[in-house]
Amino acid sequence: MPSPALELLHRVFGHTAFRGEQAQIVQHVIDGGDALVLMPTGGGKSLCYQIPSLIREGCGLVVSPLIALMQDQVEAMRQLGVRAAYLNSTLSSEDAAEVERQLLAGELDLLYVAPERLLSGRCLNLIDRAKIALFAIDEAHCVSQWGHDFRPEYRELTILHERWPDIPRIALTATADEPTQREIAERLTLEDARRFVSSFDRPNVRYRVVHKDNGTRQLLDFLAGHRDESGIVYAFSRKRVESVAEQLAAAGIKALPYHAGIDAGVRAANQRRFLQEDGVVMVATIAFGMGIDKPDVRFVAHIDLPKSIEGYYQETGRAGRDGEPAEAWLCYGLGDVVNLRQLIQQGEAGEERKRLELRKLDSLLGFCESTECRRKALLGWFGEPHPGNCGNCDNCMEPPQSWDGTTAARKALSCVYRTGQRFGAGHVIDVLRGTATEKVTRFGHEALSTFGIGSDLDVKQWSSVFRQLVAAGLLEADIERHGALRLTADSAPVLRGERELRFRTEAPKAARASTRKTRGGAAPMIDMDPASLLRFNALREWRSTTAREQNVPAYVIFHDSTLRAIAENAPDDLDDLGRIPGIGVSKLDRYGEAVLQHLLDHG
Ligand code: ADP
Ligand code: ZN
Repeated sequence: MPSPALELLHRVFGHTAFRGEQAQIVQHVIDGGDALVLMPTGGGKSLCYQIPSLIREGCGLVVSPLIALMQDQVEAMRQLGVRAAYLNSTLSSEDAAEVERQLLAGELDLLYVAPERLLSGRCLNLIDRAKIALFAIDEAHCVSQWGHDFRPEYRELTILHERWPDIPRIALTATADEPTQREIAERLTLEDARRFVSSFDRPNVRYRVVHKDNGTRQLLDFLAGHRDESGIVYAFSRKRVESVAEQLAAAGIKALPYHAGIDAGVRAANQRRFLQEDGVVMVATIAFGMGIDKPDVRFVAHIDLPKSIEGYYQETGRAGRDGEPAEAWLCYGLGDVVNLRQLIQQGEAGEERKRLELRKLDSLLGFCESTECRRKALLGWFGEPHPGNCGNCDNCMEPPQSWDGTTAARKALSCVYRTGQRFGAGHVIDVLRGTATEKVTRFGHEALSTFGIGSDLDVKQWSSVFRQLVAAGLLEADIERHGALRLTADSAPVLRGERELRFRTEAPKAARASTRKTRGGAAPMIDMDPASLLRFNALREWRSTTAREQNVPAYVIFHDSTLRAIAENAPDDLDDLGRIPGIGVSKLDRYGEAVLQHLLDHG
């Protein structure tokens, strides 16, 4: 006899089994316990409150800061036959009154509410009169003032516990680090709640870090391996977002810009298109992404260096929520480090905060230049051990070579010193290589003892040396002086030849080209036999039309993984179709006939 929760998982959601700790979390909350759930993006947090809301008496109240996405969340629930609604500032007062009436009449299973709305006297009063199954506090890291997503109203959510101590609360987040965990527990009075910490590994996401030489060109090459797939490209500034989006569009890619400076209407429309259409590439600042639960984002590309490892992991976590293969690609150069340092130092934050942010940037830089398994390094950062050798990151798939850079480092540092610690890497490299540019002559640098001592390495190799010296904290970019390189306290032993250094060898061009080829072509991330692929594409078209008719995102109808299973199994009756993962009774009822008919029409 399956438990009621498992039965519901099959019948309503069409899933075969719980994932990871879902079963324990769901049972704990059904039994009335408080829970703090830490799970990576795509881990399946929503089910942890949805199922208890359906099983416990009354309506589950979900606090979420993501007003723009509530409608989609509710729509996805309704497609499953769940009675869901939302209350936020986008509703007319008549519509809100109708939702309130439904809640009081016991006609709702799930109600999504914006935090500021929830805290209004009217809403608190409403909760007093309604039967509430549980409180779910989504994106719980919004209580943390150190994070990117701080929401002051989240701090006031303690009222839920004070006023209704008997209603279970479940707080959920994908932010893993220990200080944030602690802050959530304290701020939401969840110290006594049971903590469920899942593994943060995302085995289906492939990590790749490349050095920038011509960012846009490299991005276009990368995108050639992801034709017609949805993805996000993160860029450093609004201006960059605009120009990258334009360049991609000019190259025939369905790219749209998104940043906080774009008119709200246009921004919402772009987000809508990203969610609803297949194959849209969103070029965005980090203003985009929280709560975007589009499951079939096939890649997240950083065309510029992100700000921290935490940020990078959150952003890349938006790829491959459906568990299908996905790629996280990061392209960075020394210029990015200079830009970011400048941004931090010129920011409004206090000194302590600035120092913290600079340290975070340094850690990220260390990660980029590391030769160790990326997954191991990332998980290690969050305190989770991993044996390494994941087989699905650049360092594991193409192990980097290293070389003895002791002499080169010495030459580089002394040349920085001799030129007066006033120049960027480009000029210092010219001096090292003995290139008598106009600037070299103007400053009389051909007379220096370091002029021409580095002609054994080419410009690219020297750039790599300088990048790695900065990443290792042996040089720093002086922001006051437009990124001029300066020695640090740690440079001296290297200059004296007392410290040995090993550098990572750049992947030769040829090797890169060949990996590109194996990943090229249409939809390379998903392998399928030709007949299935034909059915899959036909089903995708049907899904697009259906989604457009209902004005909902395509994935609300069926996920890619479900369409793929249908295409591969080619079921010929409703019973067979109903056994496909992701098809519960409600979807079978709504779409079963249409899907079978479509399969008949497309062999
Ligand atoms: P999160 O909120 O943790 O980022 P979601 O709740 O949106 O993740 O779930 C991510 C994806 O995983 C969704 O597409 C969801 O349908 C799917 N999913 C969740 N739990 C299961 C399960 N037990 N079996 C199969 N798919 C699941
Ligand atoms: Zn690895």
